[in-house]
Amino acid sequence: MKDRKILMIPGPIEFTPAMMREMEKPTTSHIAPDFMEQFGQALERMREVFLCPDGQPFVIAGSGTLAMDLAGANLVEPGDAALVINTGYFGDRFGALLERYGAEVHHVRAPVGDVPALEDVEQALRVRRYKLVTITQVDTSTGVLADVEETARLARETDALVIVDGVCSVAGEELRMTDWGVDFALTASQKAIGVPPGLALAVAGPRAMQVWRERKTPVPNFYADFSNWLPIMEAYEARTASYFGTPAVNLVAALSVSLGQILAEGMEARFARHRKLSAACKAAIEALGMQQLPAVGKAANTMTTPRYPAGVDASVLGKISAAGVILAGGLHPACKAEYFRIGHMGPNNASDILATVGAIETGLAGVGYQFVHGSGLMAAQQVLLQ
Ligand code: PMP
Repeated sequence: MKDRKILMIPGPIEFTPAMMREMEKPTTSHIAPDFMEQFGQALERMREVFLCPDGQPFVIAGSGTLAMDLAGANLVEPGDAALVINTGYFGDRFGALLERYGAEVHHVRAPVGDVPALEDVEQALRVRRYKLVTITQVDTSTGVLADVEETARLARETDALVIVDGVCSVAGEELRMTDWGVDFALTASQKAIGVPPGLALAVAGPRAMQVWRERKTPVPNFYADFSNWLPIMEAYEARTASYFGTPAVNLVAALSVSLGQILAEGMEARFARHRKLSAACKAAIEALGMQQLPAVGKAANTMTTPRYPAGVDASVLGKISAAGVILAGGLHPACKAEYFRIGHMGPNNASDILATVGAIETGLAGVGYQFVHGSGLMAAQQVLLQ
């Protein structure tokens, strides 16, 4: 009997065996030559994955929220105006974080499951001059995908810094930092990047680094201060060692392997694979008679958020888990009992999607939901075979 379930939540995700083998190696010194090479390589690969050839990568022990903190601590000064393009729980978090650093924060919101209209963003940008604009590319609470390219274009017309929370998107959703004018993008290791939780990752473009250099006030956060980390990142890239805080040695080594695998697949192929697996999952959900939380055309490719059908509640997740697939419940406070979340990002393949849909059918049958058995699987397979 297989003793392991498939983890199909929106982070942490299923990991590759090669990355896990790297994790399991004995921990070396953080100044060992091999480790300097791995760290340096990881930093170089970050630029390629974020599609930001002239960006400054940061890899720091911490979770994705620390990566958000890097943006707040280094780019905000008291009284700065910040506009949050809010698509859910993580937009709220970014707003609260920026306020903590003294920003005057304004949110452009949409109904839960939707994205603010570009006209509303444009209107907000006309009312006052914002120093920075934040966009959550995929809000993991709702599974909604924001239009980073167009929003960034509008924001850059006003000269605002564009910051993207890509925790649930980088290395899965299409994100082109340089081409789209994104000044700072951040993520965490445990999602499409494909490494266990524990690393905060960010790439700062030249305009963001300039804003940090021209600060009038000191960075009011010791651990997150670029002044402490920039020399470390530069040293490792030059394959020399330097110390501020002990790096998460095994995680950084694993990151280098995972980023190498991502680049071996190629970013375009990776974006396309995520789109296809997502389409297959969503086709299955529809065939099984379930609605989705995101408005039409606004759903992410890294995750799917089905609404429970009539007569079904979160107890179905236990049955799906018993069938071998772990899914997540709802997260948005306004409606968390009404939907569940399926993550499909990173190394997931067609078989993972079919296994997930099969387990969802088993779970639904187990709670007495009426549907044509196999209809979800057939719909998914039809997309996968295209
Ligand atoms: N932003 C988004 C979009 C997220 O999905 C998450 C985590 N689910 C975070 C930020 C925070 O990341 P972490 O939990 O690693 O601190």
